[in-house]
Amino acid sequence: MKSIAKTGILLLAALSFAMAGCGSKAPPPEEGKIPVAVSFGAMEKLTEAIGGDAVSITVLVPDGTEPHDFEPRTGDLITLKKSRVFIYNGMGMEHWADKAIRSAGAENQIVVNASEKVTPLLLEDEEEREEHGDYDPHTWLGPQEAREEALAIRDGLTAASPENRELFMENYEKFARSLDELQEEYRKKLEKAPRKELVTGHAAFGYLARDLGLTQESVEDAFATGEPPARKLIELIQFCRSHGVKVIFTEEMMDPALARTLAQEAGAEAETLSTMEEPDSDSYLDTMRENLEKIDRALR
Ligand SMILES: [Zn+2]
Repeated sequence: MKSIAKTGILLLAALSFAMAGCGSKAPPPEEGKIPVAVSFGAMEKLTEAIGGDAVSITVLVPDGTEPHDFEPRTGDLITLKKSRVFIYNGMGMEHWADKAIRSAGAENQIVVNASEKVTPLLLEDEEEREEHGDYDPHTWLGPQEAREEALAIRDGLTAASPENRELFMENYEKFARSLDELQEEYRKKLEKAPRKELVTGHAAFGYLARDLGLTQESVEDAFATGEPPARKLIELIQFCRSHGVKVIFTEEMMDPALARTLAQEAGAEAETLSTMEEPDSDSYLDTMRENLEKIDRALR
């Protein structure tokens, strides 16, 4: 009863916003294409790889917004309602998804929880768990996990548009092969790396680390604990020094000053890795290869 009441209030709010003229900013889907809403940048890249020209994708989380912190607005609910398919990552990445789906109330919509079949990575850090839930939500940053997600997306798109079945099958087969090659490229390069410690600003590379035998230390963690930041920072600097860490990675949306300062103290450089949490026009494979180059250089 409580949740129905809540949904009702949300819908009312949505309506009054709509009547105040606050509509969706998303362009109308291209004629003849399947309207697909996705949560954030990485889901757009994976959906593009499978849907190709048959889909018209709208990304809900805008540029410059952390998907972790996103709250859908009226325009987003309208976009969602108009979409034939909604694709989100899951694993706790989009805490807002369930409520948004209910509030939008689209009929016969195909909803894809892309990471549903990914083997979850349990988070050990207590503060990380408080922020993200029990499992690391950044599944798409591991090529094998991305393959699983692409499969779920293929099935979702096929359910929505059986007439495009052949196309989605072919695109998936091709993409899955590329992901296997990518995984091999990562494995071959990183297996030769003398260092195995990846130091990142935002602990988003847990799946990559798990699958490729790396460990991830995060700058964010140093600030996420209840201990005084200075002490944790000193620990991290000592860690970097004793492990000969040459590069500390930041992500596009993180304050680069923090990583720079830390890098200086640790005698390392600061460099950027893409977590694909923000939308951009690069493909999934290109972004992952660019990340690999940087990780490879950092671990040599
Ligand atoms: Zn993240």
